[in-house]
Amino acid sequence: MSLPDRILDRIDPAPDGCHLWTGAVGQGGYGNTYFEGKYVNVHRLIAGAVKGDVVRHTCDVKLCCNPHHLIIGTQQDNIDDMVSKGRQKKGALSDEQVIEARKLYADGRHAKEIIADLDLPIGRSGLYAALYGTKYGHIPGERHRKNKGWT
Ligand SMILES: [Zn+2]
Repeated sequence: MSLPDRILDRIDPAPDGCHLWTGAVGQGGYGNTYFEGKYVNVHRLIAGAVKGDVVRHTCDVKLCCNPHHLIIGTQQDNIDDMVSKGRQKKGALSDEQVIEARKLYADGRHAKEIIADLDLPIGRSGLYAALYGTKYGHIPGERHRKNKGWT
């Protein structure tokens, strides 16, 4: 399957191997795009999922579209996975934390290290949303926007 450039251009490989969607984000925090007449979740499109399939992220990053991080499974797999990873980590970041995290990421630090170093109460999905400005967009300062293309 070949995807149009307007979709591929919005995917940005991160240093830790995830390919992050930088376009529109829909409810649930997944990348959203218009493709062949309807709105679809980008990671499902990349994974080649059909209706009824559940697509899981082995990396736990909702915006990730790296086909090697996506597996098609059942809803129950998904629940088991969430429980085993214990990813119920939730919290909010202060403005200072967001600014600091964006600075570290611009310096080439990996998301995992940034979360550990700054002791952030969020997972990588939440961090990427902050880095890309889909969350905390009100905070001024550098956001991660560079696009190295599809690899
Ligand atoms: Zn990933």
